[in-house]
Amino acid sequence: MRKYSLLPSLLLLGSLALTTACGSSSSDSSGKQPSSSARPGPSAAATDRGVDPSRIKGLEIVSDNSEHSSCPYATSYPAVPGAEAMTAEMKEDIEERLANFRAAVCDGGTTAVERAELNVSHQFLVASGDVLGVRLTTLDVNTAGDGLMTRTYWYDGKDRDRRSAIDLIADGSTDAFTTALKKQLDGREGIDAASLDDTLADPAARAAALDDMAFTADGGLRVEFDRGEVGVPPAGRFTVTLSKATVTPWLSDFGGRVQRRTAHPSGSLDLGVTAKPEPPVPTHTASKDDPTDCRRVKCVALTFDDGPAAPETATLLTYLAKYKARATFFTVGQNVAAHPELLRAETRAGHEIGNHSWNHPDLTGLSPAQINSQLDRTSAAIKAATGKEPTLFRPPYGAINAKVREATRLSPVLWDVDTEDWKYRDAAKIAQTVIAKTGRNDVVLMHDIHSTSVAAVPEILRTLTARGYRFVTVSHLRAAL
Ligand code: ZN
Repeated sequence: MRKYSLLPSLLLLGSLALTTACGSSSSDSSGKQPSSSARPGPSAAATDRGVDPSRIKGLEIVSDNSEHSSCPYATSYPAVPGAEAMTAEMKEDIEERLANFRAAVCDGGTTAVERAELNVSHQFLVASGDVLGVRLTTLDVNTAGDGLMTRTYWYDGKDRDRRSAIDLIADGSTDAFTTALKKQLDGREGIDAASLDDTLADPAARAAALDDMAFTADGGLRVEFDRGEVGVPPAGRFTVTLSKATVTPWLSDFGGRVQRRTAHPSGSLDLGVTAKPEPPVPTHTASKDDPTDCRRVKCVALTFDDGPAAPETATLLTYLAKYKARATFFTVGQNVAAHPELLRAETRAGHEIGNHSWNHPDLTGLSPAQINSQLDRTSAAIKAATGKEPTLFRPPYGAINAKVREATRLSPVLWDVDTEDWKYRDAAKIAQTVIAKTGRNDVVLMHDIHSTSVAAVPEILRTLTARGYRFVTVSHLRAAL
């Protein structure tokens, strides 16, 4: 019955984003996370708490997603130039989780959970001056998975090193700090006082439990505990917020800077390194209307999911322009926020932009409100980048049911030709699959986050063009059918 016990975790994925987005509680009192009655509703503007990822020079979002409901995983983390030590830590954590998930669910593993899924999404907490903070939120639903886990990662540009959440507190103040936390937790339903004492007394256990701490906009410190870390597992997650007045005397030098930069972010992040020059953004333009008549010529709709990604998407745009090919990009909101300039380049070149959710969850596992949040946030980010709202969406993993259809006005788009390019990172194989399988009016599924998929495109364009195919957007194709 694990499936049912995980439902609150699934709901928390949305409510966590909500509570984080408006995290300005000023008192020391803070209860457990809102229960299943909480409605997720983070707005696109509130997503990264005042951080605009598109202003972080040289930022790359590293994504690794499957597109199969038999093995549904989606992971992402930001790689910020200068913060390589922190990037490596996130990468290592994600790769370990992904390896465990794949072994349990994908690679012949048998999981007792009906709906297995791994989703790791990122949120910027602060990217200002010499401090950088990112939270990774992991939803791991499988036999061995722990449900919802969160962790914050920190980088100190002054000392040029990564920091743990516990490093926000000065060494000499750890005892006072943990005593205050204990006072807040003691007596709450589900707290096991004896094991809480043991956890907070042992340095390794303490650092593991205190791995998610971040400041609220008014200077308070919010501490998040995963399920089972300080309470009995059925009690779920716990949150403690210490007020600014309480916590400020205990902060380390780094903690003090993070607190100030969270409350008063300066415009830009400066980790003391010169970022590589940004890859050039293609400037191709195409007329708004495509004269191709799909009733008279053979049409095909190439679709690229999970982007945009730098530099892969820019390279792809150059290939498409060479053949005057139009395509449809089903973009992921958290990547749109990082690279709106690539969406503008896609739009300029006559391509269509579709919605592929904010962070690639299986939408069939979410509530209608959470489905709306995933799609609306992404549509808002697309509109902010291009001025135009999408009309199409592609459900991650192609997973769709009546609940998902009813929750949105966007029109779903699946596919006819599956390259499985997320699994086979082999340009020649991907090109051969498309060339062998594609027929008239087909929709082809590929992913522009992988350089191997992008590298397959010239051969696809060359061969199918020679066979008389024209490359149109999904909406253009649908209008002709
Ligand atoms: Zn996808």
